[in-house]
Amino acid sequence: MRVLKLDISGVPESWITLEHAVGYYATGSVAYTLGDAMSTLRGGHNHRGLRSTVDVHPIIAVNGVSAAGKLLSATPRLTRHNHKLFRRDRYTCGYCGGLFREHELEREHVIPTSRGGKDSWTNVVSACRSCNQVKAAKTPEEAGMPLLYVPYQPSRWEDMILQTRVDHILADQMDFLRANLPRSSRLAGSFGLV
Ligand SMILES: [Zn+2]
Repeated sequence: MRVLKLDISGVPESWITLEHAVGYYATGSVAYTLGDAMSTLRGGHNHRGLRSTVDVHPIIAVNGVSAAGKLLSATPRLTRHNHKLFRRDRYTCGYCGGLFREHELEREHVIPTSRGGKDSWTNVVSACRSCNQVKAAKTPEEAGMPLLYVPYQPSRWEDMILQTRVDHILADQMDFLRANLPRSSRLAGSFGLV
C-alpha cells in the first residue's frame, strides 16, 4: 500500500512508500494527516534505548512551500503505456462501446496523427483492435464511426486515481480523491473495474 502525499495546501503530489512516509514523520515534516492509521512501523531508538514506533496514516500533508500552482497547472502525463488512458475510459471502446481487457485495447487518435492530430488527452480514446483497424487514418466523420464519449484531460485528483490500480487505493484515500472530482468525471461512478 502507498501513502498519498499532499503539499501543505492539500493538493495531491504523489504516491509514496511507507518507508518514505516514515522519513517525513521522523523529521517532523508532517503537517497533518487524514484517515485512520494504516500501519505502525518501527522507528529509531531514543536516548533511553527504547525503540519508537510511528503510526503511518494513508494521507499526509507535508510542510514546505505550497506547490499547488505548479501541480494544478501541470498537464497530467499521458504515459507511453496506456494504463492511465484505459482506466480513464473504463476499458470501454470509444466506438463500439464494448468492454475489453487491457491487452485487447489500443490508443486511438481521434484526429489521426498523420493528419496533424496531437498525442494528447483530448485527442485519444481507448479502442478495441477491430474498431481501430476499421477507423484507420480517417476522422470519425469520414469513417462513419461517431465517438460514444468525449476524451478529456483528467484533473490532478483524477490523475492520482489513474496512476495506480483501484484496488491498491485505500478507502480513506479514495474518498479524499473522489470528493474532488468534477461531476462529469467518468471515475465518479462505481469502481467495478481495475
Ligand atoms: Zn470497438
